[in-house]
Amino acid sequence: MSLAGHIRAESARLAALCTACGACVQACPMTPYAEGVVEAGPPAVAFGMRDVLRDGAGTPAALAWIGACTRSGQCTPACPEGLDAAFMLRLAQWRAKGALGEPPRIPVKEDTQFSPKVKGFARLTLNEEEQREWL
Ligand code: SF4
Repeated sequence: MSLAGHIRAESARLAALCTACGACVQACPMTPYAEGVVEAGPPAVAFGMRDVLRDGAGTPAALAWIGACTRSGQCTPACPEGLDAAFMLRLAQWRAKGALGEPPRIPVKEDTQFSPKVKGFARLTLNEEEQREWL
């Protein structure tokens, strides 16, 4: 299965199990920093996040929450359904950034130093011959 297919399949699987109760939103330390999230309330924000996983447009508050995620991981233990809410947020973030070819719905930061960083890290792990061959 392609990466895009895997993202779609996992999104659908987890969205089908999510009840949009909002416990993950309630547990999130980033909600005060995401516009409209506190006003919308946890269930509505969770509903919008689940909508993104179901190929929907989401809601402004849900997209703000998805974009504010810093991977604290506080959401996962809060889920009463035992779902990996942090992974759901990760999937929703990829999708909102346009990973499946749609226009981005949240800001995407381009890391112009990504390639040099990979090479720098690789130099720490490859011997000289491997560096000559791969870098
Ligand atoms: S806590 Fe779990 S079931 Fe409730 S909205 Fe979040 S992911 Fe869905």
